[in-house]
Amino acid sequence: MADKEELESVCKRRGFVWQSSEIYGGEAGFYDYGHLGARLRDNWERMWKDYFLGLGEHYHMIYTPNILPHRVLEASGHVDHFSDVLVGCKRCGNSHRGDHFLEDITGESAEWMGKNEIASFIKENKITCPDCRGELSEPENFNMMFQVDIGPKGDRKGFLRPETAQGTYMNFPREYRALRRKMPLGLATVGSAFRNEISPRQGVYRLREFRQAELQIFFIPEHHSEEFEEAYDNLTSKQLSLLRAGWEEVRSVSLDDLDDLPKFYRYHLAKMFEFYSEKMELSKDRFRLRELSDDEKAFYNRIHFDVEVNMESLGGWKEVAGLHYRGDYDLTQHQDASGQKMNIPIEGDRKIPHVIELSFGVDRNIWALLDLGYRTGERDWIDLPDYISPYQVAVFPLVKKDGLLEKSREIFEYLESSFNAFWDKSGSIGKRYARQDEIGTPYCVTVDYDTLEDDTVTIREISSTNQIRLKVSDLKKELQDYINKEKEFQR
Ligand SMILES: [Zn+2]
Repeated sequence: MADKEELESVCKRRGFVWQSSEIYGGEAGFYDYGHLGARLRDNWERMWKDYFLGLGEHYHMIYTPNILPHRVLEASGHVDHFSDVLVGCKRCGNSHRGDHFLEDITGESAEWMGKNEIASFIKENKITCPDCRGELSEPENFNMMFQVDIGPKGDRKGFLRPETAQGTYMNFPREYRALRRKMPLGLATVGSAFRNEISPRQGVYRLREFRQAELQIFFIPEHHSEEFEEAYDNLTSKQLSLLRAGWEEVRSVSLDDLDDLPKFYRYHLAKMFEFYSEKMELSKDRFRLRELSDDEKAFYNRIHFDVEVNMESLGGWKEVAGLHYRGDYDLTQHQDASGQKMNIPIEGDRKIPHVIELSFGVDRNIWALLDLGYRTGERDWIDLPDYISPYQVAVFPLVKKDGLLEKSREIFEYLESSFNAFWDKSGSIGKRYARQDEIGTPYCVTVDYDTLEDDTVTIREISSTNQIRLKVSDLKKELQDYINKEKEFQR
């Protein structure tokens, strides 16, 4: 845990993330991933794909373009409705996002407020510009999509996609046929999305270009396979920490306690909970599933829970993912606008499948790991899940002479074929441990004189700093077991 400035400075110095176009002074809302950040992000995305594609037999990745034609986003409702309320200052000219700046003043959520509510609140309370106390202009709706011209004449309008989901929805009928009409059908994608945020200030939390990892599951309500029922039954003993709309505090509940929610939704709620507790390894007091009230959620979402993580650097609970039951809204919109059939045959009838969307902000999840994992004090280190650390193991020779350098290189190359490995031959051993601590490498292997005698090495674990000796021939297997949590590091 760390405050924002401290964590940002650490991320910059060590090579994780920093503001883009830095040498020209930077541009708000755009961030670069450095050599460690890129590894961490790749590893997180790999973990995400492994876990969520594994939830169904017919779940697959697809990739679609970043630019979408005007008519697609008109059909989805983004052209008319994807806007925030913009309040400008008549004196200093600064732009403010209406709901956010009212939240800063009142300390209460203003997400439900539209243009008119914000206008009357400003008038009644005589609110002035937070930057210069100047008079504010009339609030207006500002569409957050980046418009682009397609082709040389500029007569074909398009947008950078504001979410990855629309490309996926349009592909449902094609993939449904290509995958031989199997349901439920899951189509996942990982990629960039773009929103022209009015004034992004919260680091990687609110970006103008960001990455999403989304899984859209197409299904027919109440048509469950035997496999699904079995998978559901296996989860009923699990307890989830939930904050339902109207509850004062988080409660621990089982899936059966949530019987007002459809079974298919409940199942995925539990799976998202499991991802955060077991894969991201967040302790249960640091994240929660929060249900949005009718005021807060979009009209097409029948049920909406966010995953929120308590991040000190961002001042508390922040959304990092969401589970949305969107009904048949999306496919119906595209069927009506395109004239293409989106319905499928079900028991002599035709039905438009429903959609459950599992949506994750990749950058936000990476930031959550860094925020929660950052440790400072006697030594600085980052506590990351072994599986997604930029490097999982580092190899050092104790000294560079007497054949230890060559032996350590040999062991490094042996490990590199199975792990993200790092070889560091310079500086004192203490310094080399410290360097790996700072970037979250969970295991360090030191090659010393005994290695030449009996083929054993020292292996040190980051959180305890305990060390044990292992045979080189056992090293790969032991590391694999620690990383996959099949074995505890002997402390
Ligand atoms: Zn001003």
